[in-house]
Amino acid sequence: MQLYVIKSDITRLKVDAIVNAANSSLMGGGGVDGAIHRAAGPELLEECKSIILKIGTCPPGRAVITGGARLPARFVIHTVGPVWQGGYFREHELLADCYRASLELAEEKRLTSIAFPCISTGIYGFPKQEAVKVVSSLIHSWPWKRSSLQEVYFVVFDDENFELYKQAFPEAL
Ligand code: ADP
Repeated sequence: MQLYVIKSDITRLKVDAIVNAANSSLMGGGGVDGAIHRAAGPELLEECKSIILKIGTCPPGRAVITGGARLPARFVIHTVGPVWQGGYFREHELLADCYRASLELAEEKRLTSIAFPCISTGIYGFPKQEAVKVVSSLIHSWPWKRSSLQEVYFVVFDDENFELYKQAFPEAL
């Protein structure tokens, strides 16, 4: 498995799946969620609505998968990050759950490439340095030998995350 740390707009990536930092309603919102829905078009929202009709809500730490609609990516994995509340409400575990659930969905579908944004580190306020530690420990303990995934992209949007990810993943291209 090859890791990549890239500074880019995640909506432009032609990978098997991009991960969306969604909210529990899956109805779109600001930040990366808004960008993904704008780029994907209304079909994405329709698919999210039909999932919500079945499951009610997508709680923090969980993930669901839809098609990519008009995106270059084949699928979108929507996961709901925790809102940072000082670190006293299992935010670290819930953030790890988001990455784990997304990787599991990708592997269930035998996908070979996936791209993650920096979940929860925007509007949801998770400290960037804390978040990257969570991501790094999960990624470095994942059983890659059994995985269908061959390429994992960390898509960063700002210089601070770029530096943090480059430090945490020195093996990344
Ligand atoms: P959350 O609510 O989970 O904090 P945000 O969308 O506010 O989600 O932010 C998550 C991360 O996604 C932030 O680091 C933000 O800078 C980044 N981001 C925003 N738009 C994009 C985009 N188009 N592509 C990649 N990353 C993005």
